[in-house]
Amino acid sequence: MLNSFFLLMIRIKIQSFKIILSDILNKNSSNEKIVPEFYGFKNLITHKINDIKDEIDYSKSVLELYEISKNSLDDGIMFLDFDMNIVNFNNKLISLLDSSELSLSKNNKVTDITKNLDIIEFCTESVSKNQNEKIIELSFPTRYFNIKSKLINQYLLVVIKDVTDFISLDKTRKEFFANTSHELRTPITSMKLNIEALQNSKIKGNDSDYEFFLEKIKEDSNRLEKISKEIIDVHAIESGELIINFENIQISDLINELHKEFSTILDSKKIKFEYSIQKKFPKIKIDKSMFKTALENLISNAIRYSQKDSKIELKCIYDDENIYFNLRDFGIGISDKDLPHIFERFYRVDGLRSERHSGIGLSIVKQIVDVHNGNIAAESSINEGLLIKIKIPLR
Ligand code: ADP
Repeated sequence: MLNSFFLLMIRIKIQSFKIILSDILNKNSSNEKIVPEFYGFKNLITHKINDIKDEIDYSKSVLELYEISKNSLDDGIMFLDFDMNIVNFNNKLISLLDSSELSLSKNNKVTDITKNLDIIEFCTESVSKNQNEKIIELSFPTRYFNIKSKLINQYLLVVIKDVTDFISLDKTRKEFFANTSHELRTPITSMKLNIEALQNSKIKGNDSDYEFFLEKIKEDSNRLEKISKEIIDVHAIESGELIINFENIQISDLINELHKEFSTILDSKKIKFEYSIQKKFPKIKIDKSMFKTALENLISNAIRYSQKDSKIELKCIYDDENIYFNLRDFGIGISDKDLPHIFERFYRVDGLRSERHSGIGLSIVKQIVDVHNGNIAAESSINEGLLIKIKIPLR
């Protein structure tokens, strides 16, 4: 706008300069007229040259700044001309798009840097839009990119941000609520049916049925209690409302309590619980109730994923710096693909598993271990059981 105004002014000045010059040549005018006209013209040109110089200096410093910072940015960036040639890009773009290094001299096109049709189409359609934005989903592995563009003079600036973590968390959160409401509905429906059956068996005076349905109702209420406890734990962890209460405890007391708690279910599945505690095991400073929750989650998983007549081993050992809890089962195990994710919140191993669970038990265990400045790891293969290793520093 400013440039075209100046050009128009210069054109008018040149025109009037030419007229005066031809007047002088035709001796229609005196030299007096041409001198101020010439100086006016000279000033205008000098002014414009200074403006252009300032503009160049500014663009140069912006470009220098961009060149210095472009590879420290978390987002992929590229400048394209309107024929989809890449004029400039940063390293992050290469790693985001899994392309090999490009050399700028080769006049690469967008199609050289990615084969993803959505990204190519986005760039092409952005040429006719001042600004553009889209979420693009990539497969194998699934990733989500937020891609934005802006027209800057004769170039198209394209910025790509990896938003996979954000979108995945949002998805798993939604799945968690869907699963949790499903999980709540199942024991409630079952409880209602069992109560009706209980009432009928009372009317008929059938004592053995009465006991049977009473036991079923107890199971349903236990399940409801577990779900509500998990929801409360998740809420406490998410909102940072966790109150930690460290106390010195004797590990054998805790293990005995757990053994007692699980004895009915262990007996019903004929699973042996073998535990060993290294001699002179020191008293440990932990939040007992939290730590119990962690071990309860691990033991109930071990029971759930083990066949009848199997066994579960718990070894408690220590050295000068740490205490170690190794819990091993010999159940269905976890594949290499799923193993790295089992401590992630809401992660569930599907397929083989028929029951639906919330996928938060192990993430709660990890949070509890973290609170104790400890470390948790897992080793497993399909059908070879699972080994959970917990390390807690002695303080
Ligand atoms: P959930 O509350 O759904 O059981 P967890 O966080 O406890 O979720 O477990 C995450 C996933 O790891 C589950 O999908 C479960 O199938 C698997 N898993 C946990 N413990 C075991 C185990 N001992 N053996 C085999 N799979 C297990």
